Amino acid sequence: MANRCPDCAKFVSLDDPEVSVESEDVGITGTVDIDTLITLNCAECGTGLYETSLNIMEDFKCEECGYPPLEVSVESAEGLVTEEKRKKQYGAEVEMLLTCSECGKTWSVCRQVAAPLNDFDEL
Ligand SMILES: [Zn+2]
Ligand SMILES: [Zn+2]
Repeated sequence: MANRCPDCAKFVSLDDPEVSVESEDVGITGTVDIDTLITLNCAECGTGLYETSLNIMEDFKCEECGYPPLEVSVESAEGLVTEEKRKKQYGAEVEMLLTCSECGKTWSVCRQVAAPLNDFDEL
């Protein structure tokens, strides 16, 4: 798929995905729910060309006491480009810190989310 930038008025390559964390939540049963917005920009002028939301949803339990975590905070969210079946996928690598509701233990988890360009909306 060729990416045409309206500002550069030519076909361009894409910069590394830009990630913004839209929301970070944890439910009472320990389901962590993180919404990220992935933007793909023109590598030459930085104009946003594609955008999509990717969600991370997963249940966690404390290794020490088995209770669900009370708090989640995103430590970092980096742009990620992977390849699956020779098709590029764009997304984020999210590192989060979980805090147990019961014993106060904290631990960090890293998760990756990515989607092919077809799943993105053109801007
Ligand atoms: Zn451009
Ligand atoms: Zn615990």
